[in-house]
This record gives sequence, C-alpha cells and structure tokens, in this order.
Amino acid sequence: MAYSYEAPVSQSLFDRASVVTPGGVNSPVRAFRAVGGTPRFMVSGTGPYLTDADGREYVDLVCSWGPMILGHSHPEVIAAVQEAVSRGTSFGTPGEGEVALAEEIVARIEPVEQVRLVSSGTEATMSAIRLARGFTGRAKVVKFAGCYHGHVDALLAAAGSGVATFGLPDTPGVTGATAGDTVVLPYNDLDAVRAAFAAHPGEIACVITEASPGNMGVVPPGDGFNAGLKELCAANGALYISDEVMTGFRTSKAGWYGVDGVRPDLMTFGKVMGGGFPAAAFGGRGDVMAHLAPAGPVYQAGTLSGNPVATAAGLAQLRLLDDAAYARIDAVSAELRSLVGDALTKEGVAHTVSAASNMFSVFFTDRPVRDYDDAKKQDVFRFTAFFHSMLEQGVYLPPSAFESWFVSTAHDERAIERVAAALPAAARAASEATA
Ligand code: PLP
Repeated sequence: MAYSYEAPVSQSLFDRASVVTPGGVNSPVRAFRAVGGTPRFMVSGTGPYLTDADGREYVDLVCSWGPMILGHSHPEVIAAVQEAVSRGTSFGTPGEGEVALAEEIVARIEPVEQVRLVSSGTEATMSAIRLARGFTGRAKVVKFAGCYHGHVDALLAAAGSGVATFGLPDTPGVTGATAGDTVVLPYNDLDAVRAAFAAHPGEIACVITEASPGNMGVVPPGDGFNAGLKELCAANGALYISDEVMTGFRTSKAGWYGVDGVRPDLMTFGKVMGGGFPAAAFGGRGDVMAHLAPAGPVYQAGTLSGNPVATAAGLAQLRLLDDAAYARIDAVSAELRSLVGDALTKEGVAHTVSAASNMFSVFFTDRPVRDYDDAKKQDVFRFTAFFHSMLEQGVYLPPSAFESWFVSTAHDERAIERVAAALPAAARAASEATA
C-alpha cells in the first residue's frame, strides 16, 4: 500500500531507533507492522491531542493504550507530579503516597481487601498467578485464547497448532515446561472450562481472564460468563483472577467489577491507576493476600514498587475520576461509536462496533464476534485502509484491528467534530480496499 502523506522526521527517528533497538520500538505494536507505514514519534500531548515530531496534530483515540483517561497533560496530574518530583524521585522505603493509593483502590473496589503495588500490568498478573499457585499448592493456570495478560511466560501460551487444551509456547523462549501448565480455552465457552476442571481434578490453581477483553478487539463476556467462571472456580477449589489492567478505573469507578458485580478472588490493575507512569497492582481476598511476603511465604518484590512520583500521578488521576467524569467518557464513547457506525454503514462496509462500557472497537465483519477465532475472521485489510485514511486526516487510532479504542474526559466537541469530519473518507477507503 502506498501512502500519500509523509512523516520525514518520524521516519528519520525510526531509522535511528532501528539501529539501536530491535524493530525500532520498545513495545512491538508501536511499530505499525500490522498496518504498514512510518510509526509516528510523538513529542507532546495536550488534552485529546498528540503532536508528532513533524509538527502534525492528531486527535488521540489510543490514550497511551488506556492510561490517559483525563487526556494528556491534565494540569492537576502534572501539578501532583511536579510536587512529588520536587521532593525526590525514589527512596526505596515506604512512603505515604503508596498508602494513599492503596486506600483509594481498596475504597473503590470492594472485593479488594489488600493490594500490593508493582510497576507494570505484566508484573501484576505474573505475581497474581504465583500467589494463586502458592495459595492453592497447584500448578495449572487456565487462560483464554485472545486474552492478553502481559508478557508473562506462562500467559503467552495460546491455543493453536491443533492443540486444543494444552498451551504450546507461542513465542520462542517460552519453554514447553512453562507453557505446559497453562490450559488455553476458547473465550466465552463455559463448557470448555467445565471440561478442563474435569480433565485436571485438583490441579488447576486459577482461572485468569480479562474482566472484559480488549486485546482481541473489544469482546465483552456473554451473559453469565464471568459469574460462571467464579462458580466453577469456587466449586473446584481454584481462584478466579479478574485482570482489570485495561478495564480497571476505566469502565466505571470500580472498573468492570462495577459493571457486572462478579466478585473475584484476585484482581490485577495497571494503566489508569498510574496516571501515565509505571504503576500497577494486584489485590483481593485478605486471606489470599496474607500469603504474600513478608506477611507470608510467596515472594514478590520491586525496587521501584510504589514509586512516589508514579503514585502521586495515579492518585491525582483517580481522585479526579468522579461520576461526572465517567458520564462524560461514556457519552464521548457513545457519540464516536455512532458516528463510526453511521459512516461505515453509509459506504456499505460490513462492520460491528463492539463496546464494553466506554471501551470499543470496530470489527470489519457483520458476523457476531464472541471469541478470538471470530475476531480473526474480519476483513483486516479494510481496517488498514481505514486506519491510514484517519491518520492522514489527523486521527490517531490503534495501529491494529485487534485493539480497543480509548477516549478521555478531554475529548470535547471540537475533537469529536474532527473525527466526524475524517470518517466519510476513511469509510470510503475501507469500502474500496482490496485484500
Ligand atoms: N493485562 C491486560 C488486560 C492488558 O491489557 C495489559 C497490557 O496491555 C497487561 C495485562 C500488561 O500490562 P503492561 O503492558 O503494563 O505490562
């Protein structure tokens, strides 16, 4: 595909980066490999806008993959960070900021009786499954195909290659022994979960699921799916871990728990709670968390865990996220979903706008999407054309058809109008695209 627009400064930065960094990026999806073209190197962000190194401004519908729920450079978050930085950047001791952040999380999310702060969502899920294994004395972990829980070895396993129930290493470097304790099942399929418990009696430590998946595009849990998982775990002595790294503090004040009310044994958080800094957490039942060092025997630690600058940013952001903020985000999301759907319908492009609270994505198919296999059956080439047309017109979408779009309280009418103005040409490009 040829692109009619250029980004010479980004391209030269990408050339430099590619010499010193594998693939030129520090996280693979940033490299635009799924859509082609030059990844944009951003230099600043304000409200709903990002500005790239070539001086072009974009309406940002990625929001740093979720964290920037108040938009970029929110003055109160920036002020909290500046105040914290002025006192030093890391002490390696306990500090009041981390207590306050933990209290805020516990106050918002009722099943969380205790919480441990870490620095990334990956660390949170890795630690949660270690704790589940330590608590239950069991080895196996059930996860669902299409759910992403960070780059934890055991959780990178995905079904495929004719292996229906046992995970095979999905990436070189993950050993068969590690992945062999991971049971990968199709999403939204409680019968498969029942069968896994029957096939491995007394062996499954936990079931981990995205509370509402956003990493195969947005595929919400079907009615009763999370409740069924909880019930099956309880009946079989396993822990139910709800990964709310993406949904936490985004889909409601209490994340997805605030939407479906299904009470997990353990939960993981990240993204929004860090206010754009590396802060994440896992928490849940007090009796389970009591197994964590130094209270208990399951080891877990981190030099920068509870970092004072990160916790100040996270706390400032969470304190601004009141009912009015969520109402605003929900309204922006609803308006954009309807604009995108109308534009694609007008051009006769088969599509499904899939939403879970204010998270949403567009599948380029009109067949229902309930799991990863369904998600993969969409016309990805149409997304590619749509993406590049939007980018050219100054709208920054996730550079993959399998990612959630994110909005913020800062997406005002002007930003929405800019998206609306770009949609007709992008929908036309999607309609005219060929495989
Ligand atoms: N869990 C979920 C649901 C995620 O979406 C992600 C990241 O996108 C992670 C875990 C990993 O978080 P991090 O990238 O902070 O390691």
